[in-house]
Amino acid sequence: MKLVLASNNAKKLVELQALFGPLGIELVNQGSLGIPEADEPFHTFAENALAKARHAARLSGLPALADDSGLSVEALGGAPGVRSARYALDAGGEKSDAANNERLLREMAGVADRRGRFVCALVAVRSAEDPEPLIAMGRWAGEILTAPSGEGGFGYDPLMHIPALGRTVASLGADVKNRHSHRALAAAYLITQFRDVWHLG
Ligand code: IMP
Repeated sequence: MKLVLASNNAKKLVELQALFGPLGIELVNQGSLGIPEADEPFHTFAENALAKARHAARLSGLPALADDSGLSVEALGGAPGVRSARYALDAGGEKSDAANNERLLREMAGVADRRGRFVCALVAVRSAEDPEPLIAMGRWAGEILTAPSGEGGFGYDPLMHIPALGRTVASLGADVKNRHSHRALAAAYLITQFRDVWHLG
């Protein structure tokens, strides 16, 4: 089954394709269909993911999958949260992973409580007006380091240390990240719903 992915993040596509491929799902990036990014005006990951999925389904005529995700830091009251991709931009910087990580390090300078978690909302709709969207959340807890470490992954991965694994997310192989991550957990919940509600697999 072909699903439009309501994102232009190539690294998200790779992670999600690995997670959903075994169910016979083929993801197509919305950008390759000429679909522009949707607005993300809401305060929660779930609402933004639903808006993105409906937007991609409306413009493509295909079922759609959206991922809205980010980093929630305890000492920052949940920031950067839904603004994770634009964290540096919001402070007058550029929209890049490096600039976002630099701002996070600045905000966390001298802060003792380093607890944070990655959060992922996955939403799937069969059509733009689907009255029963499939919604799944996943969370992955860790600690924010004081300097980046590791070359893999994307976004805040170099600053996110997972105590149970003894490394940063950016130092994990893609296969290990895909077994433990917030996105993997949400995908597992979504796969159950794909089987039960959409009768896939
Ligand atoms: P979105 O594309 O609007 O959902 O923004 C997601 C942003 O959250 C990314 O640009 C990253 O900054 C961050 N993020 C989401 N998932 C991950 C992850 O798996 N690792 C690191 N950062 C992530």
